[in-house]
Amino acid sequence: MSAPNKSGWKPEMNASGDGMHANGSDGPVTATGNRALMLEEPLLFEIGHMDETGVDLPDPRSDASNRLGGFDRSEPIGLPALKEGEAVRHYTRLSRQNYAIDLGLFPLGSCTMKHNPRLNEKVARMPGFADVHPLQPVDTVRGALEVVNELAHWLIELTGMHGVAMSPKAGAHGELCGMLCIRAALEARGDARKVVLCPESAHGTNPATAAFAGYQTEDIPADKDGRVDLAALKARLGPDVAAVMITNPNTCGLFERDMKAISDAVHAAGGYVYCDGANFNAIVGKVRPGDLGVDAMHINLHKTFSTPHGGGGPGSGPVVLSEALAPFGPLPFTAKTKDGVVHLVEEENAAEFDHTQAFGRMTAFHGQMGMFTRALTYILSHGADGLAQVAEDAVLNANYILRSLEDLLDAPFGPSGPCMHEALFSDAEFGGGLSTLDLAKGLIDEGYHPMTVYFPLVVHGAMLVEPTETESKHSLDQFITAFRNVAERAKAGDDALKQAPYYAPRRRLDETQAARKPVLAWNDPNLS
Ligand SMILES: *Cc1c(COP(=O)(O)O)cnc(C)c1O
Repeated sequence: MSAPNKSGWKPEMNASGDGMHANGSDGPVTATGNRALMLEEPLLFEIGHMDETGVDLPDPRSDASNRLGGFDRSEPIGLPALKEGEAVRHYTRLSRQNYAIDLGLFPLGSCTMKHNPRLNEKVARMPGFADVHPLQPVDTVRGALEVVNELAHWLIELTGMHGVAMSPKAGAHGELCGMLCIRAALEARGDARKVVLCPESAHGTNPATAAFAGYQTEDIPADKDGRVDLAALKARLGPDVAAVMITNPNTCGLFERDMKAISDAVHAAGGYVYCDGANFNAIVGKVRPGDLGVDAMHINLHKTFSTPHGGGGPGSGPVVLSEALAPFGPLPFTAKTKDGVVHLVEEENAAEFDHTQAFGRMTAFHGQMGMFTRALTYILSHGADGLAQVAEDAVLNANYILRSLEDLLDAPFGPSGPCMHEALFSDAEFGGGLSTLDLAKGLIDEGYHPMTVYFPLVVHGAMLVEPTETESKHSLDQFITAFRNVAERAKAGDDALKQAPYYAPRRRLDETQAARKPVLAWNDPNLS
């Protein structure tokens, strides 16, 4: 990339050196770098002017009353400034280069990228919910508390558990909450266990959480069918094992059929069972984790209960707790008394509600109110039959993908029976030195965000596809057609795939360089 250019437009940025557009199209190179409605957009640092803002501020007074006692800025801050209209255009142009669930199927395995119903949005925007503030007097937010309590009730009901911590703000945050409950329960009985067991196929957040909560982690091997090896697990249990963390359905897209036997064995050895509930959409309304002996499980509202992911909104990861762990759950939480009033239980009234062993707090306030309203809307608009159908359709759609591609691609666990919510393939049958990465880049040219790649680690060159329950047969068929086209090229060893994507706003990026030497500012030494 050349040096920053205040005029902004740098059509040469697009040229790949051979006179062709960066996107591989062979039309004329334009002066702007734009290609019709595909608009080129430089970095903020390249278009921003350091000395302008969109706001007309009065000049600061220079007399002593206005000085900051040594903290005054002696030089300009050096951040780019844009006028309001320019800023809006910058981000709108960038957003058009992005892929989104509202544009097309988003097959990311484990992420459950499904449609966010607009009814949820409508309810979340009602002023009584949207405008509440966490520091308002409790008496002015009884309705909001009622919503939180109602959602808590349904989460407990759907999981067959005893209590729920609503405040964690994502799945991984919920894992930490669950592990801190387990640690508090062990400490309360004076039992300093040190080890947490995680299956080989565990989501990376599981061992990371255990380590963050102060535990050593050890792997439990998978059996040849991709499930936890029960005999190996039993052999490892002992007085040093605090907990096992198991994802069910697991990240190979399989239901852990031995879950009850696993829980019984862990409990008999004095440990606790953490279940990673990120894949709950495959079993909601069908199986209650409480009946399988689970002690703590997070629920990603932004997965199972359809609240937006990432840029569309913050995550939310309530943690349901068993009777053994509920007394240690964090503050605050809601409790409905016999008179029908919903109370907010915090440090000052915890004793009144018989909750004096809380391990602490996960967050300053009560959690993601906007996500609670959306998730409750989703639950109530589906009803019991609708939620069970969510699980059925999630599983049906994933099996449709599995059976539509397994003649072409190696599906390591295909022969052992139906999958749950996601279909797993390997690169075993690729030709010409092509890799999973090449197929993923080829899918971009077909107009799809790639599936999850190289995860789970138990399968070579893994490709994990989760269509979710909200895709129609028509959109699944379109995706399968695109996937088959790229997969056939990968099997045939089509060398051209190594250069894909051809049609994206940028060609294949050097991902190592981008991670190791990110260019973060116009004067960054990495910008050469
Ligand atoms: C998504 C996911 C997580 C982490 O959840 P976040 O909300 O992204 O923090 C953990 N485990 C599994 C299996 C997941 O799919």
